[in-house]
Amino acid sequence: MSKSTKIVAELLFDGYNEPIKDGAVIYDNGKITYAGTAEGSPNADLTYKCKTVLPGLWDCHVHFFGVKGASEAEWNLSSPISMAARAIYDAKACIEAGFTSVRELGGIGLKLRDAINDGTAPGPNLYSAGSALGITSGHADSHNYPLDFVRKRAGEAWGSLGPVDGPWEAVKAMRIQFREGADVIKIMGSGGVMSQRDSPHHQEFSDVELEALVTEATSKDRIIASHTHGAAGIRAALKAGVKTIEHGTWLDDELCDLMIDKDAILVPTIFIQQRLRDFGEKFGASKEVMDKISVVADKHKETMKLAYQKGVKIALGTDIYSSGMDSLVPWGLNARELEYYVEDVRMSPLEALRTATHMGPKTLGPRAPKSGELKIGFDADLLLLNSNPFSDISSIQDKNNIKAVIKGGILTVNNGL
Ligand SMILES: [Zn+2]
Repeated sequence: MSKSTKIVAELLFDGYNEPIKDGAVIYDNGKITYAGTAEGSPNADLTYKCKTVLPGLWDCHVHFFGVKGASEAEWNLSSPISMAARAIYDAKACIEAGFTSVRELGGIGLKLRDAINDGTAPGPNLYSAGSALGITSGHADSHNYPLDFVRKRAGEAWGSLGPVDGPWEAVKAMRIQFREGADVIKIMGSGGVMSQRDSPHHQEFSDVELEALVTEATSKDRIIASHTHGAAGIRAALKAGVKTIEHGTWLDDELCDLMIDKDAILVPTIFIQQRLRDFGEKFGASKEVMDKISVVADKHKETMKLAYQKGVKIALGTDIYSSGMDSLVPWGLNARELEYYVEDVRMSPLEALRTATHMGPKTLGPRAPKSGELKIGFDADLLLLNSNPFSDISSIQDKNNIKAVIKGGILTVNNGL
């Protein structure tokens, strides 16, 4: 018989509604059985107390790469064994930061997931795209390396075909990711910042490729997440039926309306844009990359404000991928994104927290787990804080304020419960 556990908190945030004072959440067998006021709540076998309880947080745009910086050489030449070893610590840093679920949009997460799920390594619930799909010369290509090398490396390090062109090759690459167990499909819909010779303004997969990709993904109950900065790529992706727009740097009034019309979700990644601008050079970014980010970083922040004001649905994403605190976008700093949403995008703390709770599972479309909210029958993923994030959103970033993290009813991080 499992033991039921009750968390009593001065403040309870259920992932969507205004927080309530003196709340309680009870779970048993990994699922929530009660959430509401402490007064009148059922008895449980164990009881713990904290200042604030809320759903474990979601980061909807991350990567397990096991690298430290932005140099093409590091990405192409690092040993997959070293990368995996680092990623194990990244997964631990993630859950210690209060993030119990991530949507990984490219990386080695599908392989890491087995080691987390069998209890070998602590880490978040990992919903992964496997390897991202992109065209020859595009954001998933590696422009200073011979194409044959890029393809070989893609197979060995990432479990993918490498760059693909034409609807059928793209669909085949997607089917390989289904075979690997992907929960969502990631495509490169426009050029990017960290690739060397493509422009973020250019559409990458063509309309005909996008149509084939969306048809195939939809038939297998997966949604497509598209990396897209420029307007042309965003428009094409939305028209084809892509459901989440990653980055979305050049969204304008008209494209925000199209996002709403198509019920698509925007996943901003302010964290990486700011870090890359400030620390890119130190961590090996080339001049081409630094030139691109000098434009993208501020534009991105400005656009997120517009999208929020227009009422576009937003889910939190950071694009965090690097290992160790002395690295470009360190795992464990995921909660920094919330502060940007409050300080720069001008969301209320409640709205910012919703992007990391209620909205998280929605970025997986039909494969959304019952998670991100304190509701009966939902996963018992909980973040217990010593602080009140509604009065200070940045308090979540301070490890001293993380009292405990519970994942699937298991006390995974315990800092003095
Ligand atoms: Zn990314």
